[in-house]
Amino acid sequence: MNATAVFKNKRCTLERAEKFISDTYFTDVNLRGRLYPDKQPVTAIYHCAVEDRIPYHEAITRDFTKTEVGRSFGPTWATHWFRIEFAIPKKWSDKDEVRLAWNSNSEATVWQDGILAQGLNKDNHKDFILLGYPAGKPHSLYIEMACNGLFGAGSGLIGPPDPNKTFALSKVELVTFDRLVFDLIHDIETLVDMAKHIPETDQRSFQALYTVNSMVNICTVGNPDSYRQARQVAQKFFSQAPGSSCHTVHAMGHAHIDSAWLWPYAETVRKCARSWSTTLALMDRHPDYKFVCSQAQQYDWVRIHYPGLFERIRRSVQKDQFIPVGGVWVEMDGNLPSGESFVRQFLYGQRFFMKVFQRKCNVFWLPDTFGYSAQLPQIVREAGIEYFVTQKLSWSLINKFPHSTFWWEGIDGSRCLTHFPPADDYGTSAKVEDILKTVKGNKDKGRVNHSILLFGHGDGGGGPSEEMLARLERVKEVDGLPRVKQSTPVDFFESVVKEGTDNLCSWVGELYLELHQGTFTTQAKLKKYNRKLEFMLRNVELVHSLGLAIPGLRGRYPSDQLDHMWKGLLLNQFHDVLPGSCIKQVVEDAVKIYEDIENTASKLLMDGLQALCAASQEKGYYVFNPVSWQRGEVIALARQEDEEGPTEAKVAKIDSVIKDCEGKTLVLVDVLPMSLMSVRESSASVIPVQVIQSEGSILLENEHLVASIDGLGRVQSLWHREAERDAFKTCDQGSFYGNQFVLFDDIPLFWDAWDVMDYHLETRQPITKAVTSAQILDNNQLRCSIQTKLFISDKSWIEQVISLDSGCPYLKFSTKVEWHENHKFLKVEFPLNVRSSNATYDIQFGHLQRPTHLNTSWDSAKYEVVGHKWADMSEHGFGVALLNDCKYGHSCHGNIMRLSLLRSPKSPDPTADMGQHEFTYAIMPHTGSFQESGVIQQAYNLNNPLVVFPGSLPHQGGSYFKVDNPAVVIETVKKAEDNDNVVVMRLYEAFGGQAKATIQSSLHISRAVRCNILEEPTPNNALNGNEIKWVGRSVQLHLKPFQIVSLLLFLE
Ligand SMILES: [Zn+2]
Repeated sequence: MNATAVFKNKRCTLERAEKFISDTYFTDVNLRGRLYPDKQPVTAIYHCAVEDRIPYHEAITRDFTKTEVGRSFGPTWATHWFRIEFAIPKKWSDKDEVRLAWNSNSEATVWQDGILAQGLNKDNHKDFILLGYPAGKPHSLYIEMACNGLFGAGSGLIGPPDPNKTFALSKVELVTFDRLVFDLIHDIETLVDMAKHIPETDQRSFQALYTVNSMVNICTVGNPDSYRQARQVAQKFFSQAPGSSCHTVHAMGHAHIDSAWLWPYAETVRKCARSWSTTLALMDRHPDYKFVCSQAQQYDWVRIHYPGLFERIRRSVQKDQFIPVGGVWVEMDGNLPSGESFVRQFLYGQRFFMKVFQRKCNVFWLPDTFGYSAQLPQIVREAGIEYFVTQKLSWSLINKFPHSTFWWEGIDGSRCLTHFPPADDYGTSAKVEDILKTVKGNKDKGRVNHSILLFGHGDGGGGPSEEMLARLERVKEVDGLPRVKQSTPVDFFESVVKEGTDNLCSWVGELYLELHQGTFTTQAKLKKYNRKLEFMLRNVELVHSLGLAIPGLRGRYPSDQLDHMWKGLLLNQFHDVLPGSCIKQVVEDAVKIYEDIENTASKLLMDGLQALCAASQEKGYYVFNPVSWQRGEVIALARQEDEEGPTEAKVAKIDSVIKDCEGKTLVLVDVLPMSLMSVRESSASVIPVQVIQSEGSILLENEHLVASIDGLGRVQSLWHREAERDAFKTCDQGSFYGNQFVLFDDIPLFWDAWDVMDYHLETRQPITKAVTSAQILDNNQLRCSIQTKLFISDKSWIEQVISLDSGCPYLKFSTKVEWHENHKFLKVEFPLNVRSSNATYDIQFGHLQRPTHLNTSWDSAKYEVVGHKWADMSEHGFGVALLNDCKYGHSCHGNIMRLSLLRSPKSPDPTADMGQHEFTYAIMPHTGSFQESGVIQQAYNLNNPLVVFPGSLPHQGGSYFKVDNPAVVIETVKKAEDNDNVVVMRLYEAFGGQAKATIQSSLHISRAVRCNILEEPTPNNALNGNEIKWVGRSVQLHLKPFQIVSLLLFLE
């Protein structure tokens, strides 16, 4: 050892050790410079550009021509294959390892004898270990180069991809690898980091510092004996164990791979293959290593495109090294999908994991999603899952979430044991700093003595690296650090449970992310398709399930098509697609999937409906009510020239034909719940509507409402006849009117497509320039309407039809927008004549309340919130609801209720939301509560209109299904996954109270059995203590508030 102990300045001593392993400084004389001591060029490089992402066996049959290091390849998204010919020099026979070093400044894949061996990228996985190649002989292998980086090909992370980028092949060479140097580098790095990150109040920090300093003194660069001596010093330090009460960190390898984001779905398939093959290769050398991996869709891609790799994964799953988690089809958005979509994420996810791995996931895994619905705990528990992991709330801008390990409680009271890894990251480098951050960041100290640490590069970064595993090997039991073990999520949660959960805190309701609230609105087209197709698939399933009960139609349920459509819809719910935070190419791919679903589903719906009607010569119009309550509504029959169907004359018993402004025949029908009805059977009595034009305004009136509308389409007054009051408190100053369009500046701090900041509210600009003044459009007994057209700017405009139907409790706004703005946010607002400190918002299978004030930082952070089909603000006895057919962004401040319509961010898609849009919203004042006044039902009606089609007499009259309590909604009727003679019915309590309900059906059902959302029968077949029994034509149920109930209905 050194004879002279110098006075140690901490910074100098530390930096000296850092420079000794630096890969930037002094590499000619330091230890890092000796990691790859020898290098030599390969024999030859051959190249072939291919047209697409083609399979290996096809690529190698192509013509390859000679190329060399230094050349560039492109353009963006192209694929180039290389054959590398090499011979390992005989003089290297005694070397630890020979590797192929590669840098194409892009992502790449190594193929070894037809086997996908490993991913390569310039940042984390720069070389490939050449095992089993005898020295002195010629060998070859293939490398598939993808012309994109880890994060696509944009500038500054989220910039749109540059389509003409090229990628330089800057390194292809053989190198030797010195294992002893690698080990010593990681000893030194660990000690340096302990000295740096353990607080100075802890003497362990200085012990690490002096230990590493002495090691640097011992080392003579180039002398392996000195390395071994230095390693012994380190090992002595690392062998000093921590106390028995210390914290345990459960380290888990992970690679968060976005299913599409700054690159298309097709590239994700290869990203998975690269990262997962890299991980399997690491597992061969590190038997302790555990890798946690989610998203059934990604496994399915690899199963289809890389069956050999998938088989290796399957074996690794059996050994509990490769750990499937999540239980969902993709890591979906946590706000926007419907309740049934959430259910299907788990149904398709868990069934996939059961089928291929014979195991279900017990951990819901959603580390990167932009907020979490308050209905998720119940759905998660219904999917057979107890635990939940995320970390995204650490991104909240305003408030720090107070827990790391806690009970998350949903709107129905269901609870999931939940953990936020305290390092606030799903892709750490497993450095000492991350480990210490985990201990320090645990917000439940004294209650929980375990935490999760996730490590590994995501998004094609290849997952964990050998450096990360080397770090973890050193810190298993080291005084000054927590105990660190390679673990799994279930091991972690079981450790928490074993220590006792009585002391854990609860968080009730949504996990609201105070960031990324623009994702409720961005890429409106995706949101519109999502909403529309959720209802469409529901209707297809309902109609074809009814067919199951008809002997001639059995066996015709379109299971394969429905599976395919659902999987497409679920894929597009991925957390960078439906939220709108992806590049243009992804939007185009998603729209293509949606269009295919729409085409197939419309055809299947019509086929299913026609099949329910008996063959009869006499044709007429029929109407199908897909919802579980009776509804009276004005329908429009197609014009004869538009569609082959019965002539108007054949629509008998419609006394006087009423036509709308487009020449379509209007009929008021009253249809039983979930039933088919001939239009001629219409017996609804008409209370006529009327339109009155006066100076400066037009009045639209029906039996419920009187709307006074000005030339700009602004509703100056909306009189509710029953309540005898106005729904709006309008004010000229600042243009506070009902249906006032407003434009806001929308320039976030960084995350363009994602974020709308609170300060946008300070830039409100009412839109007050008419193209033409309001015109009367429909003026008949059943419908009155007016048309307006407004300039948003010289490039953008709004055209709107405001209509009121006979019997309808709401005023409807059918809207078209031509939109060409830059960083502007369009909303529509309503100044309500209501005082309430809370507003209510529709969510999955229920609703929740949020404040209308800014009392606390938690309240004010919710300046833009998510809601589905409706939002409502009510005081005692009266309220106003705002319904919509495809929007999700809302805000209510004071008495102003706003619906978010369109944004115009430019990154990562510079064309986001540019062009034409169509959407509908409606305003519904009501007496009593929103529950009693039918807001929920009307919102369903607006989203799921009566289906009108030409056909003949149905098999039977009456309701296929109905329920006698308006609090209970039948959401889903589908064929059971595993039994062609069983229908699954899913219903829920929608009002937020206990509900008794009788479900009746005209179908011949012999037995009803309660099941979970995976369609597994519940062992005791009881609902809140009551046995489920199908008696005669009905079953009685007793539901708890917001309870979701699934039943297996066995057909006779
Ligand atoms: Zn992500």
